[in-house]
Amino acid sequence: MPRQAYVRPLDLKHGRIDLSHGAGGRAGAQLVEELFARHLDNECLRQGDDGAVLPEQSFVGRIVVSTDCHVVSPLFFPGGDIGCLAVHGTLNDVAMMGARPLALTAGFIIEEGFPLADLDRIVVSIAAASRAAGVPVVAGDTKVVERGKGDGVFITTTGIGIVPPGVELSGARARPGDAILLSGSIGDHGMAIMSQRENLSFEAPIVSDTAALYELVAAMLATGADFRCLRDPTRGGLATTLNEISRQSGVGMMLDEAKIPVKPAVAAACEFLGLDPLYVANEGKLVVILAAVDAERVLAAMRAHPLGREAVRIGTVHAEEHHFVQMITCMGGRRIVDWLMGEQLPRIC
Ligand code: MG
Repeated sequence: MPRQAYVRPLDLKHGRIDLSHGAGGRAGAQLVEELFARHLDNECLRQGDDGAVLPEQSFVGRIVVSTDCHVVSPLFFPGGDIGCLAVHGTLNDVAMMGARPLALTAGFIIEEGFPLADLDRIVVSIAAASRAAGVPVVAGDTKVVERGKGDGVFITTTGIGIVPPGVELSGARARPGDAILLSGSIGDHGMAIMSQRENLSFEAPIVSDTAALYELVAAMLATGADFRCLRDPTRGGLATTLNEISRQSGVGMMLDEAKIPVKPAVAAACEFLGLDPLYVANEGKLVVILAAVDAERVLAAMRAHPLGREAVRIGTVHAEEHHFVQMITCMGGRRIVDWLMGEQLPRIC
């Protein structure tokens, strides 16, 4: 795109979004050029046409597409912000299909009056997350809504990736006897948001686990194990994810509560707010269902990666007509881990 001359550059320190930034005219073009394109710059984005044409690929495999809307509040939280969250959330959904993410798109709905400094910070975070993952943002869109008609900024991202031949992952493939693995502690993201919202402070601050999981997935797939399903337990938490898989596959599950890692500060915050960490969102964790015979070597591969250091086997799939997820509690009893009822934590991702 040839650089255009504007009357004056965007005031990224004190300026604010106004309706003209979304009107499709000169102000919008300036916003795109001086803020979005400046940080996200790449060959595809630079084409400046109605759609991005990706370079010719030599891959063999099938295309995976996933999309996710992000409405998290607050926009900035310990360990991340809506920008990197919007990148990780979609990249992880692509990765859970066993696919190598190739490209991302991002759509922004911004409220009139939103500080340009905050938008700049968010786009810098998107750029850093996309660069770290090696997945460019190749197309995007910006719309502005009137003051009071939005809440700062909402971001929708879409990701595409390539799943290699032979990788067949689905929540419908769990079978009796399969092992259930978890990559690390649960509840970190949800409680980082909640403790910020509720102004809770703990000796050890709770930090979101938001992270891109594809490298961990690639290390796991390289073991050649017989994987059935990978899933990132985001909104609704581990309990909801396992219930979804149980229903899809028509099986039951038995978990061991003592094996499920929960950080002390997360456990304390959950107890204080009356929440169960099993239902709290994660943004950098994954659940694996696989043939039990492969569990130990996949655990070893996971623990060798920084995002899987605490990986553990948390349970087993069994045949069960009601498709219940059950758990042996730390007290030695047994309870049903039901679906999440209602919306426990709104605006978490
Ligand atoms: Mg997911």
